[in-house]
Amino acid sequence: MNFLEERIVKDGIVKEGNILKVDSFLNHQLDVELFDQMGKEWARRFKDVEINKILTIEASGIGIACVAARHFNVPVVFAKKSQSVNLDGEMYTAEVESFTHKNKNQVIVSRKFLNEGDKILIIDDFLANGCALQGLISIINQAGASVSGIGIAVEKGFQTGGQIIRNMGYKLESLAIVDAMDASTGNITFRS
Ligand code: 5GP
Repeated sequence: MNFLEERIVKDGIVKEGNILKVDSFLNHQLDVELFDQMGKEWARRFKDVEINKILTIEASGIGIACVAARHFNVPVVFAKKSQSVNLDGEMYTAEVESFTHKNKNQVIVSRKFLNEGDKILIIDDFLANGCALQGLISIINQAGASVSGIGIAVEKGFQTGGQIIRNMGYKLESLAIVDAMDASTGNITFRS
């Protein structure tokens, strides 16, 4: 097991409905030292790729992306979740369905902060069905920028997102891939 898998086994809680609760270190209380290790590991995995910006999505992605960015020396842009419509055309927008909240959000990024030719590393906390990632990829495409890679903390490998994103040809590096989890026993199985 790697450092993140060990931490998930120690402090993660498996909830009904295929939810892994990791709010003691990733989603509510934030273990910045752990984030630093994650950033270091992504920097190693993406060392041969050109990256000039990190894109994430609020809220949980922001802390992880900011700490990771110290290992890449690049700025972080986060997509905002908004109910309002893009009336003035100053924003790139995409619709994202939330796995945890079961609602739809418009996600927006100002045109000022994503430019043609940008080489983007996407960072996020979880990958489940891949809706959040597809929204971010759509925004990057709208900007004429390109996706250099995708770094995910926890991928739930028993949901479809990982396969969809890999089939699209993206370099997806998840630090922990959960292949099975059981709310009654609390058991978690990782992909080796
Ligand atoms: P997706 O768009 O891939 O279906 O879901 C990704 C988003 O849903 C993540 O950004 C994360 O916020 C949330 N999410 C999905 N599954 C889980 C989970 O098991 N636990 C937690 N804490 N968040 C999740």
